[in-house]
Order: sequence, then structure tokens, then C-alpha cells
Amino acid sequence: MFRATVLTLYPDMFPGPLGTSLAGRALERGAWSLEARNIRDVATDRHRTVDDTPAGGGAGMVLKPDIVAAAIDAAAPESDTRPRLLMSPRGKPLEQARVRELAAGDGALILCGRFEGVDERVIEARGLEEVSIGDYVLSGGELAAMVLIDAVVRLLPGVMGNAESGETESFETGLLEHPHYTRPQEWEGRTIPEILLSGDHGRIAKWRHERAEELTRARRPDLWDAYCATPREKTKP
Ligand code: SAH
Repeated sequence: MFRATVLTLYPDMFPGPLGTSLAGRALERGAWSLEARNIRDVATDRHRTVDDTPAGGGAGMVLKPDIVAAAIDAAAPESDTRPRLLMSPRGKPLEQARVRELAAGDGALILCGRFEGVDERVIEARGLEEVSIGDYVLSGGELAAMVLIDAVVRLLPGVMGNAESGETESFETGLLEHPHYTRPQEWEGRTIPEILLSGDHGRIAKWRHERAEELTRARRPDLWDAYCATPREKTKP
């Protein structure tokens, strides 16, 4: 079972949105588990200090290495082989391939940064894998952790109603997904493309694939170039 252990200064933020809809129902029936642990619980001084000023000066505060290490060690003994992630704008951008790998594993330990971030030495000493959810700066790692967990949980067996709907999804084929339509057939003078009403599944699949290619070429030249460099058999429907 996928077990997510989140280390945070704001455990009350969890499960938050992960407690509703698909992820929430799956959580309730035990298809995955979530434990949010307060980093502050391992602080032993009178003020339960978790941060200190940056060495070398400058703005903000840094999470202390001894505190972060104690929180990690208390949450996961050395025998715990789950990946140890640190949500961080400096990390490798999260992609569907990594999400898939995580979903195939038995969970993750996820550290949420706050303030300026985390002392570099504990990142090294505890082998934390830095993961970014995009090129922008959040005020803390909690929302980023929720994004990652949501992306993973929807891939777990039995979580998404229709398993097939994952297969043509954006990024799974190296392409963005084709456009979708539903009834009514005409809305504000706009009609559903004729071919989708034809019942010809072969032609529909071909049309969708062409639209996916078109969209990807127009919107994401980076994905398009990677797609074009991939052997064809792998990507054609
Ligand atoms: N001073 C840091 C930013 C700190 S933001 C820098 O310039 O790189 C505070 C915390 O929010 C980070 O420690 C991280 O845990 C989280 N965070 C912010 N942006 C993020 C992003 N794009 N992806 C993942 N986590 C992020």
C-alpha cells in the first residue's frame, strides 16, 4: 500500500483537499495512507525552536539540520526504504514519469520546507531528493506535497473510476490530450465535430491523435521535439 508520511510545521493543513473526491474516498477505504507529522514535535528546548538565522547573513530563517534529521529519523527508521523527498523550487521538476514510479512503490517520506528553506547538510546527510512542482516560489512545501500526492494517488489501482481514462491522458503518450466534447450537440452555435458522432472508432482514434499532435506542436514545442525524437511504434495509437 502507498504510505505517505509528511513532515511539516503545519500538520493541520492535511489531509485538506486530499480528503475529498477520488483521493479522499480512496483514503477512507484504506487504498493509501497519510500521516502528517509536526516537525516541531522533535524540538526539545523551551521555545520548541525549529529554525535559526542564515549563516553568512541575509533575510529569513532556515530550518535547523538537527531538528529536521530528528524528525526524519523519528518518522522513518533506516530500514524504511521509501524515497525521501524534499519539496523545493531547486528540485528536479516533477513529471508524470516520476509520478508513475512513485505510484508503483510503497510510499514516500515528504519533507515540506518553510521560510528560506532547509540547512544543506541535512539534505545531503539524509539523502533527500529535491522535487519541484514548477518554476515559481510557494510559501511552503505543503501545497507542493499535496500536488505530488494527488498526482500519485489517482494512479493507484482502483482509485480512478475508469482505468482507461489514464492512458491517453496528457504526458502519458508524450502528447497533450485531445479536446473533449459532451452533449448538447449544439451549444451557443458551436457543434461537436462531426466525426465524434460517426461511431467509427478507428477514425475517431485517428482524429484524436491528430488533434493531440496539433495541440502539442502549438503549445509545447519542448514536448513536441521530445515526441518527434521517440520511435513511432511507441506513441501511435
Ligand atoms: N528560498 C528558497 C524558497 C523557499 S520557499 C529559494 O529561493 O529557493 C519555502 C518552501 O516552500 C521551500 O523550502 C519548499 O519546501 C517550498 N516550495 C516553494 N516553492 C516550491 C516549488 N516550486 N516546488 C516545491 N516546493 C516549493
